[in-house]
Parts: sequence; structure tokens; C-alpha cells
Amino acid sequence: MKVTIDCGHGGEDSGATGKLNGYFESHGVLDIGLRLRALLETHVEVQMVREDDTFVSLPERARMANEWGADIFVSIHLNSATTDASGWEVYTSGSVGSRDLANKVGYRHAEAFPWQINRGVKTNGSLYVLRHTSMPAILTEGCFLSNDKENQWVSLDETRQEMAQAICLGILDYFNIKPNKPELTLEGRVVRIEDHLGL
Ligand SMILES: [Zn+2]
Repeated sequence: MKVTIDCGHGGEDSGATGKLNGYFESHGVLDIGLRLRALLETHVEVQMVREDDTFVSLPERARMANEWGADIFVSIHLNSATTDASGWEVYTSGSVGSRDLANKVGYRHAEAFPWQINRGVKTNGSLYVLRHTSMPAILTEGCFLSNDKENQWVSLDETRQEMAQAICLGILDYFNIKPNKPELTLEGRVVRIEDHLGL
């Protein structure tokens, strides 16, 4: 199985910027993507669209995945809005395969972060990398950098590690591959929710 990981933006295109601390989307999604690769590569072949802070055009991103013959394409982004919106969402090109993949990744994300607003799986046929890739393709928006709380939260290494873990589990579900490591127990999740709530 071959997975292309597309870390959004890069180089002069920093994407969204956290209001609170100036954290760049391009840096956050690269970090999540590299963590995802580390988790995935014992199970599947991984292609990175970028591995450092360089600019890659949208046509080049799609071309890389198409030429390599990826089975799926996963684009990682962090959201931004002029309102105080928060939460996660996953976009699909609308194909059956991309909706299936998005539902599985979304399920794992919601499972990992049950306190976050679930904006759900959405079809958006106008997103370039989804429209021009020839395999099931999704674009994840793990949280809003424009929201101060989520900005602060995603600046933490452990948050980005857990986001990568959730995407990894969703991809493995899609391919019907059993993960190596035991998943977090219910007890472990409760402790983490309590930590988050400051209990
Ligand atoms: Zn973006």
C-alpha cells in the first residue's frame, strides 16, 4: 500500500497564522506529517510531498502522487476563520473511496479528541489537490489556528503527536491493517480528558 502525505503550504506560503503566538500552519502541518510518516512507515510505503519548509505548487503535489501511483492521498492542514470558529473537519473529493477514508480518519480524530467540535466530513470538489489526484484523497483540518484555545493547544508537541496517531489509525482502518501498538484504553482517555479540562 502506498500513501502520499501532503503537508500543506510551506516556504513563502505559511498558510494560516496563530493569532496568539504567531504559530505557522506550514510548520504545524509539516510536524504532524513527519510524525504520521514515522507511525505509518512500518505498515505502508510513504511518499512525502515535502519534508522541510519548502514551497511546493499544488499541481506538483498532485503530479507526485499520480506518478508514484499512490493508493491514497492525505493532505494535512490547520483551519482559519475570521469568526471564533473551532473544531475539526475533513474534506473529500466526493468519490466513494475518499468518503470512506475521510469517515475513518474523522472517526479516529473524534475518538481522540471528543471535547472538540465535530464539523464533520464534507465534500468540496473545488480543492485542487482533491480534484487533480487520481486516487481517494482527503484534506484534514485538525483545528482552527485562528481560535486562541486551539492555537495554544496545537502548539503542543503531544497534541500534534495525537493528531498524527488519529490520522494513522484512520488510514490503517481504511486498509484493514491492525496497528502495532495497543490503542489507548478507556481509562487512559479519561485521564487525558481530565487533564485537558484541568480537573
Ligand atoms: Zn491550509
